[in-house]
Amino acid sequence: MTEPVHVVGGGLAGSEAAWQIASAGAPVVLHEMRPVRGTDAHQTDGLAELVCSNSFRADDWTGNAVGLLHAEMRRLGSLIMAAGDACQVPAGGALAVDREGFSQTVTARLEAHPLVTIVREEVAGLPPPDWDSVILATGPLTSPALSDAILALTGEGQLSFFDAIAPIVTLESVDMGIAWRQSRYDKEGPGGDAAAYINCPMNREQYEAFVDALLAAPKAEFKAWEHVPYFDGCLPIEVMAERGRETLRHGPMKPVGLTNAHKPDEKAWAVVQLRQDNALGTLWNMVGFQTKLKHGAQAEVFRMIPGLERAVFARLGGLHRNTFINSPRLLDGKLRLKADPRLRFAGQVTGVEGYVESAAVGLLAGRFAAAERLGRTVEPPPPTSALGGLIGHITGGHLEGGAGSFQPMNINYGLLPPIEPPKRDGDGRRLGAKEKTRARKRLIGERALRDLEAWAAGAPALAAE
Ligand SMILES: Cc1cc2nc3c(=O)[nH]c(=O)nc-3n(C[C@H](O)[C@H](O)[C@H](O)COP(=O)(O)OP(=O)(O)OC[C@H]3O[C@@H](n4cnc5c(N)ncnc54)[C@H](O)[C@@H]3O)c2cc1C
Repeated sequence: MTEPVHVVGGGLAGSEAAWQIASAGAPVVLHEMRPVRGTDAHQTDGLAELVCSNSFRADDWTGNAVGLLHAEMRRLGSLIMAAGDACQVPAGGALAVDREGFSQTVTARLEAHPLVTIVREEVAGLPPPDWDSVILATGPLTSPALSDAILALTGEGQLSFFDAIAPIVTLESVDMGIAWRQSRYDKEGPGGDAAAYINCPMNREQYEAFVDALLAAPKAEFKAWEHVPYFDGCLPIEVMAERGRETLRHGPMKPVGLTNAHKPDEKAWAVVQLRQDNALGTLWNMVGFQTKLKHGAQAEVFRMIPGLERAVFARLGGLHRNTFINSPRLLDGKLRLKADPRLRFAGQVTGVEGYVESAAVGLLAGRFAAAERLGRTVEPPPPTSALGGLIGHITGGHLEGGAGSFQPMNINYGLLPPIEPPKRDGDGRRLGAKEKTRARKRLIGERALRDLEAWAAGAPALAAE
């Protein structure tokens, strides 16, 4: 008899992982602690409960990265997408769902599958040694007993209980006619690069206006149960600004050791630095800019920064209660813990963000575990696909930039290799900037689906060796 794969956590990721394993023909035991033990956010006993919004966001694979992820997951038989499609409610271009119907559909389909056993219990420590294949998908609100055990296994600093997210912009949206590349004091990094950062200069007037805007902008509230502490060293920038108008200028925006390449004689009053965030070099994070400003306000305020007037934000900042591991360091390319490869991780706890992304990593973890259990091979999805971009972010694409530099991320085009858009349309007419962006996104989507289908069909996925 084939031994089961154990999946811990019946949320978005765990439910999808269990479905993929059972669909591949391997038995699976899904351990969900509700209703025996609750979380601060879940309200029901249902699997795949949506704890907040009921939206899976834009559903257009030609123009939106999460829409592309939807399309790829549908092609791989995703339960979360099938249940979402079946329980759709009107929401314009977005896929929104009836949350109760959605959770009930996922629960019923898993309960009805002959290879799935659902056990309602908390896994209150490391899984027993005789569970030789385990997927931990316990989410942002992993129970304390399990998170303590993960912390003991992975080591201090490798498990976070809060995210502290600084915004990320795409390189192509930075105005390099204003910004310039230089490391502070031209200090060479380990790779020999003395121009590792992108610098955005501000004069005194611009700085004062920026501080005023930060102070006036609406802030998001913490939920009472989040108990998010402020650590010195990663204070939200608006909190720093509240402590004194000069604080930012002596903190993350200090201008020292930098010379404006475009105006060498002008000393900047303050400088915002961007640091490369991924190996592709497409994404750059705003150094020290973790923030609780509301998302709409962030885009408005940060576009006041010279060089970022037309910034495209691949990620906006935030500070939340969250539980996630330092995946780039801890996991291999198939989501196994290097220190104990019988354990895989999936979902938000791997450092992705969002319902769809969590389910997507569950889908991959499920496929990897099923293939391994059935003695078959499966390679990670192509890096040109949204699934490949996502797993790339958590298992290697992110560039280590010191403690806490790995932070959760939604799927976005910056995680995929860039593509050159056509300059003219079929009639030879020159395309405008917006038309080029649309064309580029469509080309990325076409390439992704083509490569993903080849990957699935060449079936490393679940074909026998
Ligand atoms: C308050 C809050 C609001 C959010 N709002 C949104 C939103 O609006 N849109 C969005 O896209 N994303 C949102 N997210 C982020 C995230 O996408 C969701 O949390 C998503 O549900 C993550 O999927 P998951 O499967 O990783 O975790 P979950 O869906 O949380 O599933 C984890 C499951 O594991 C169970 N569990 C935990 N510990 C144990 C244990 N030791 N033993 C057994 N079972 C255990 C939990 O009961 C839970 O059912 C929100 C997160 C939070 C915390």
